[in-house]
Amino acid sequence: MLLDIVKYGDPVLRQKGERVGEITPKIKQLIDDMVETMHEAHGIGLAAQQIGKALQLTMVDVTDVEDRPSRMSIDGEAVKPEDYMPLILLNPEWTAVGDNKEEGPEGCLSFPEVYGEIERPEEIDVKAVDENGEAVAFRCGGLLARAIQHEWDHLQGILFIDRMDAFVRTELKPEVDAIQVETRKGLG
Ligand SMILES: [Zn+2]
Repeated sequence: MLLDIVKYGDPVLRQKGERVGEITPKIKQLIDDMVETMHEAHGIGLAAQQIGKALQLTMVDVTDVEDRPSRMSIDGEAVKPEDYMPLILLNPEWTAVGDNKEEGPEGCLSFPEVYGEIERPEEIDVKAVDENGEAVAFRCGGLLARAIQHEWDHLQGILFIDRMDAFVRTELKPEVDAIQVETRKGLG
């Protein structure tokens, strides 16, 4: 089932997600619906807050992005990221590998048509629980690392506009404000 994607201005986007305990049939259904919604919207990531639920649940899928490479390794062995997509992450945590940061463009399904450059660690180690309740750990870089950090932010109530430098944020302010006004009208 396709879910409605929440836009900027809805307070749920500022809520920190609750940890997910057991993988109940309800959570499994929510995961399936979110994957369907993400693919339909041509997003490379979707967080629970973006469909109106403040949970530590997100997913990414970088399969079809050919111009922005991703890397992934498990226990020191390189793997093909596309074999793990869509990648479902519950209660994720990450730490930067080294000090290498990279600027790159980002968009967000909750901010239609808004794109801005953001600096983030280029390579990270990720720990999470998957859709079967199994602990997973991997290292990733490039677009995949960026997407996971963007999604992790959502789970804390942090938005990509918070990560933009002041210049970029000022440039984008009219568009961002317009989305907020539109959303608040819809919320009544
Ligand atoms: Zn986003």
